[in-house]
Amino acid sequence: MLSDTIAAISTAVGEGGIAIIRVSGPEAIQEVEHIFKSKTPLSLAESHTVHYGHIVEPELGEKLEEVLVTVMRAPRSFTTEDVVEISAHGGVIAVKRVMDLLLQREVRLAEPGEFTKRAFLNGRIDLSQAEAVIDLIRSKSDRAFSVALKQVEGSLSRRIQDLRYTLVETLAHIEVNIDYPEHDVESLTSVFIKEKSEIVMNEIDRLLKTAQEGKILREGITTAIVGRPNVGKSSLLNTLAQDNKAIVTDIPGTTRDVIEEFVTINNIPLKLLDTAGIRETMDVVEKIGVERSRHAVNEADLILLVLNASEPLHEDELALMEQIRGRQCIVILNKMDLPQQLDLDIVRRYYADELIVPMSVKAEEGIDSLEEAISGLFFSGKIEGGDLTYVSNVRHIALLKKARRSLQEAYDAADQMIPIDMIQIDVRMAWEQLGEILGEAVGDSLIDQIFSQFCLGK
Ligand code: GDP
Ligand code: ZN
Repeated sequence: MLSDTIAAISTAVGEGGIAIIRVSGPEAIQEVEHIFKSKTPLSLAESHTVHYGHIVEPELGEKLEEVLVTVMRAPRSFTTEDVVEISAHGGVIAVKRVMDLLLQREVRLAEPGEFTKRAFLNGRIDLSQAEAVIDLIRSKSDRAFSVALKQVEGSLSRRIQDLRYTLVETLAHIEVNIDYPEHDVESLTSVFIKEKSEIVMNEIDRLLKTAQEGKILREGITTAIVGRPNVGKSSLLNTLAQDNKAIVTDIPGTTRDVIEEFVTINNIPLKLLDTAGIRETMDVVEKIGVERSRHAVNEADLILLVLNASEPLHEDELALMEQIRGRQCIVILNKMDLPQQLDLDIVRRYYADELIVPMSVKAEEGIDSLEEAISGLFFSGKIEGGDLTYVSNVRHIALLKKARRSLQEAYDAADQMIPIDMIQIDVRMAWEQLGEILGEAVGDSLIDQIFSQFCLGK
């Protein structure tokens, strides 16, 4: 089934400086050799060596590309098959010409994620590691990247394996008890079961607690920038994002829709949402925007409320502060470069001083204070510090919860001195559910679904 040879462009398509075509499968070396001219024939190349040469149209002998070709022989490669990587000059056309030549031969275009899928099916990595490759590709901050990398290297897998080992130990204990009931160790065994399932449940709880932080690292803290029209929301977003994705104008209500931007502040990834001014309005177009921004506010992990310090507080703003009471929020007093009109005492009734940040987006003042306030609010150091094992994948979370429930049942049953062989079923179930995280006993359709999330060439 895995016997065919596949190829794909493994670097992002576009005007990159270099592009890599990855070929994997039993015929990888022969197929590339057929279109590649170099000093040493590729079939004689040692594993893990790089070769300079040209891609040549085999019939006409025409040189198409100057390339470097890397050979990695099975099983010491990502897929554990023979892998050849062709580094060609960037540009869509050049790479496409090389791909076309390969595809004219016995090479098939790889499906998205197929290289990683082969690595998994060939036993090189387990499923949680493969899924982490997806996170790695999609990670939006250095921190998220290191977390994903840890998982690719198997940090989560090792934890899960440890837990499963504890459960196997417990199962063995139960087995002995069932086989030799005359030993009268039943009561000892229930104590043992309770002890071990408690250990595993605690560790599962710990892993589940990291899930929220893992989500934040992967997707960014969803941060809604809210406030009346014209207070400077889009300008703030632009300043934070250092580009001009949102349109800034002097006409109130230009931001009709919610605009998203990813930024990293003190290594904390934020997904910034610029919302349309929150206010009652008769304008239909604006109303859609307002609806969306309400939604954005409800979804947000963090709210940046922008006020115009050069104007008195508006009743809409009071209503807004009421509405978001109790939420994680930082108030930005913008336009401090203009004479101040806003009554700060009213704002102080709602927010502590460290959450109120005077700024002038226009004069680029106060941005550091804002960044400090944001990092102060979140992680306050708690996410720093070596341990980068985070559970961030919904499938893993669901399975951990299931395993936890099975263990709770085993625990309760042991507590009530229910016959040991009944308890065995629950422990075994937990063991299987944890195994599913690693891809054991996972159905083909689920595997296909997981790998189809990859981009091409990975
Ligand atoms: P939004 O409707 O809340 O998104 O506001 P915009 O970002 O579109 O800004 C509205 C206007 O206020 C623009 O003309 C900005 O140049 C201006 N503006 C933004 N920040 C400041 C500031 O700190 N000081 C001053 N004086 N003007 C600002
Ligand atoms: Zn705007």
